[in-house]
Amino acid sequence: MNAGDTDRRRFLLAAAGAGLAGAGGCRRSPPPVPPAQWVGDSAERGHRLHTHLPDARGGAPSGAPSGAPAVRRAQIVVVGAGVAGLAAARALGRRGLDDLAVLDLESQPGGNSRGHRMAGLDCPLGAHYLPLPGPNALAVSEWLHEIGLLHTSHGRSVPDERHLCHSPQERLFIDGAWHDGLLPPAEPGGSTLIQYPAWAGLHYFAGRQGFHAPGDDAPGRDAVFTWPEGNAWLIRRLAQPLAGRLHAGRLVHAVRVEREGVQVDAWDIASGRPERWQARAVVVAVPLFVAARLLADPPPALVAAASRMRYAPWLVANLALREPLLDRGLGAPASWDNVRYGSPSLGYVDAGHQRLSPAAGPTVITAYWPLTTTERSKLLADTASDWGHRITADLQAAHPDLPEKVQQIDLARHGHAMSIPVPGTRGSTALAALRELRGPVQFAHADLAGYSVFEEAFEQGERAARVLLEER
Ligand SMILES: Cc1cc2nc3c(=O)[nH]c(=O)nc-3n(C[C@H](O)[C@H](O)[C@H](O)COP(=O)(O)OP(=O)(O)OC[C@H]3O[C@@H](n4cnc5c(N)ncnc54)[C@H](O)[C@@H]3O)c2cc1C
Repeated sequence: MNAGDTDRRRFLLAAAGAGLAGAGGCRRSPPPVPPAQWVGDSAERGHRLHTHLPDARGGAPSGAPSGAPAVRRAQIVVVGAGVAGLAAARALGRRGLDDLAVLDLESQPGGNSRGHRMAGLDCPLGAHYLPLPGPNALAVSEWLHEIGLLHTSHGRSVPDERHLCHSPQERLFIDGAWHDGLLPPAEPGGSTLIQYPAWAGLHYFAGRQGFHAPGDDAPGRDAVFTWPEGNAWLIRRLAQPLAGRLHAGRLVHAVRVEREGVQVDAWDIASGRPERWQARAVVVAVPLFVAARLLADPPPALVAAASRMRYAPWLVANLALREPLLDRGLGAPASWDNVRYGSPSLGYVDAGHQRLSPAAGPTVITAYWPLTTTERSKLLADTASDWGHRITADLQAAHPDLPEKVQQIDLARHGHAMSIPVPGTRGSTALAALRELRGPVQFAHADLAGYSVFEEAFEQGERAARVLLEER
């Protein structure tokens, strides 16, 4: 980020906060600040795990639900209805093991891939695209064939183009103009680095298949599936066959291996009552730092792997716009993914981009804001209105007409969103040992791959299910 950018952002923030007119300091009164509210993950629910609930080692903080638990049974319990948990449930079910219970603390399944709806429009709350699966993502490919996103032609997998990201896909705002693609145009003597938190840039760019330099437009290079609601489109297709076996609003706080199987203790948030699930086996499909807390006797590989993990906080902001943003003739046209050079955010995607209607209308844009671990407390300390201001000011730097078009801002905070891809973690012996574990407790989460993307989470769910099926 250069000094000019910093100054501009400070100025915009100050202007918004002090109720001054927009850039240039003219006397026009500023548009009212749009209402901003928190949606999505409930920080309070997750934090009850260490403030209110007894853990598997018997600690019982005050406020823990009391009374005898309602005893429930299933052959297999899956803890966590994110991509990994849902993929595990699917794999078990299609091989005949369908006496399942999938428990999740949130009210909706999907974890980091959940969706949202505002102003009558679908939008993502987290993950928003899936690249065409590579040759090693066998289980994902098989499922994409099953749901019709891929079909076979002349021995090759071919995507259904209606679900691929439409053109133009991405652009970068730099030096007052939009450029095609996400890499800054090469400048003699100039820096071409975009300064996000280093891990976020690495994760974002390395995660993109065929990410390419400006001007390199080889067909199919960047093909990604995307939908207005992001990967929640995929979640709906994973969750729908589970119907009555999905139990939302269940905060699991202890998992114990007993002589006859496993015991999973949960708190039913709606009724405030404890539940005890008895099962032959369990798939623990939650982040490893949570898994390590749930188990009475965590395997050494889990303790070692969990201690390596560092989790990045993210903020995702959905802004409902009463009309599209102005195309001011400043270069590349509005794209699905729009990034401003020097911005602390990773830009925004437009949920209306995949719309087939030629008439431009109201839309929702989704801005992605990664934070460093030392900034996590800002997600709880700063108000929705603080974040609304911050995000509006950031986007306004490339779109001066944005503030007057925003009707509502819905903000989702992901305090421990995803493991930071630290060198050495992905190939660590601890993670390898965790994937090799046998027995009635299996772990499944993108964390087991050391890299948080849909394909990895899905493959980990499949792997955990396979182990339990082999041990049947
Ligand atoms: C902002 C953001 C953007 C992203 N964008 C993309 C993208 O575009 N493409 C992509 O491929 N990936 C993206 N990702 C990565 C994303 O994490 C993965 O794609 C995937 O959703 C991870 O799934 P998972 O099942 O491993 O984990 P999670 O999503 O972490 O699922 C874990 C589940 O366990 C539940 N849970 C946790 N603790 C408990 C408990 N004690 N009791 C009961 N339930 C519990 C949670 O509620 C959650 O539903 C993004 C992530 C974030 C945060």
